[in-house]
Amino acid sequence: MTTLVQPHSTFDVLKKYHFSARKKYGQNFLIDAHVLDKIMEAAQIAPEDCVIEIGPGIGTMTQGLCERAGKVIAIEIDDALIPILKDTLSSYNNVTVVHADVMKTDLHQLIEEENQGKPVKVVANLPYYITTPIIMSLFESGIPLKSITVMVQKEVADRMQEGPGSKDYGALSLAVQYYAKPEIVANVPLNCFVPRPKVGSAVIRLTAYEKPPVDAKDPAHMFRLIRASFNQRRKTLVNGLFNASELHYEKEQIAGVLKEMGLGEDVRGETLTLDQYATLSNRLLTLN
Ligand code: SAM
Repeated sequence: MTTLVQPHSTFDVLKKYHFSARKKYGQNFLIDAHVLDKIMEAAQIAPEDCVIEIGPGIGTMTQGLCERAGKVIAIEIDDALIPILKDTLSSYNNVTVVHADVMKTDLHQLIEEENQGKPVKVVANLPYYITTPIIMSLFESGIPLKSITVMVQKEVADRMQEGPGSKDYGALSLAVQYYAKPEIVANVPLNCFVPRPKVGSAVIRLTAYEKPPVDAKDPAHMFRLIRASFNQRRKTLVNGLFNASELHYEKEQIAGVLKEMGLGEDVRGETLTLDQYATLSNRLLTLN
């Protein structure tokens, strides 16, 4: 069996199958063994783990996962990669390749069937065109999760990890930090992939919380406030929330709650912590 992570073996497989990477599926294949090891280490894959890999490509990370995990479920959208995966993963009997779009896959059912509904780890070198929707839908779907360890654009990894005061702080930071503890574990240069992406990458581990770190009585309401305040970054929080079509509060009500929280009328949404958003949300709900 070929160990794919060496650049020459990746080139050999691509040549053997006359395969050229497709931009529309965000295909940049990993060719660096050191980075692969970092991802495996960060995800702390152990024999009792069931791992879902999103976008196995030609199977490079999948091989590493099969070596370490009890079970691997690899979900790949591209028809042309399915016969390649059959070949490159032929020596493993602990992998199931699912030919599907992860955004249209019932992960609850898959986890029920493959892991008796027990928590899984997600590991992936994510397609960059769809990184945020994939991560948000993993969290919002409420599937049983231990952690998500993913390669993403460096800038997106920064956004997930930042807090108030940073230009990268936004709705994604707050959403991720509500569900998980984010830690960037490695920065990955362009030459670790073929073809080379245009921007740098990073590996980030999101360790799922058993219980969210803040007590939002109605998380969906809190996220409506967060989206509204970051949709209108240049406005004050009072104006941002007042103008949002999905919210129905008067300016005086919002300003009143902010005052109770010790915040001024001209405060901006980007200065509030997750805890403050939870408090704001809970107090506004009592006005309904
Ligand atoms: N894991 C491989 C590696 O590290 O070399 C490939 C990573 S490549 C950045 C992203 C992979 O995700 C590609 O194989 C691509 O075809 C697949 N992909 C893109 N969109 C997808 C989707 N919606 N559902 C499942 N797989 C997808």
